[in-house]
Amino acid sequence: MVKDSELRHPRRCVELAGEALENGDEPFGSVLVAADGTVLAEDRNRVAGGDHTRHPEFEPARWSATHLTAEERAGATVYTSGEHCPMCAAAHAWVGLGRIVYVASSAQLTTWLGEWGAPQAPVRPLPVQEVAPGVAVAGPVPELVDAVRELHRRRFRS
Ligand SMILES: [Zn+2]
Repeated sequence: MVKDSELRHPRRCVELAGEALENGDEPFGSVLVAADGTVLAEDRNRVAGGDHTRHPEFEPARWSATHLTAEERAGATVYTSGEHCPMCAAAHAWVGLGRIVYVASSAQLTTWLGEWGAPQAPVRPLPVQEVAPGVAVAGPVPELVDAVRELHRRRFRS
């Protein structure tokens, strides 16, 4: 599902998620990669300013709509530390982006939040494929899940 040769991209997403947490944001990070492996864009969560739509999976979708052709979007992959929420999955599908690779699933995150007594997201944690059935999805990435879990745990420890 996730090839060893592409693992550097989800690893970078975990780094970006760590940067988000260090800057007071929720620990999520994403990378947009072209069909030939070129990194086109990367972003981290930016909701600390109060706009809770500033997910790192949403911005690349909008960026790609103006900077890439339909063919380039279809061939691109979005790697992300956490599975797209329904808002981001919808944006991804509406602009015609290609595959999604996530490290931790929404189901995993929901379980962790429950274990920690943390507030649940205000949007139902539907799997990407329920929101956007035409999108190819791979994940979780088992070797990186613990790192993502630890970032979320730190968010609720302090
Ligand atoms: Zn989202």
